[in-house]
Amino acid sequence: MAAVFRPVADDLASAGHSVRLDPDPSETHDGRQRAQLILDGEVLGSLVVDPTRGMNTALLLLADLTQDFLVGRRQRQDDGTPWPACVAGHLHPMRIVYGLDDPVWTCPRDPRINVPIGKHPGRPFDLP
Ligand SMILES: [Zn+2]
Repeated sequence: MAAVFRPVADDLASAGHSVRLDPDPSETHDGRQRAQLILDGEVLGSLVVDPTRGMNTALLLLADLTQDFLVGRRQRQDDGTPWPACVAGHLHPMRIVYGLDDPVWTCPRDPRINVPIGKHPGRPFDLP
């Protein structure tokens, strides 16, 4: 789990978060890997990976799930900061798109704007 999740953890760390994975107490030995995502000392939720679906898909699912957890947390904290940030001037977060060859964050307004998961600068960035 830690290895698959690493690029998402890197992108969270770039945005200034401390990230940790803990063993998930709901482990059920069904072949899926589970871990609890601890962000800034708070349990954010359970991550699940099905290793039979391939690492790209697993990474996209983990990025998607993490983003959902973060949106919920920021709503509770009344924090509208998008994660991961899009280009300067875009107020939305970047999104993942399933079915691509490479796991990337994509601008929901312009799919030509994308950043590999794990290489996000952690803040709004300029177009190249
Ligand atoms: Zn955008």
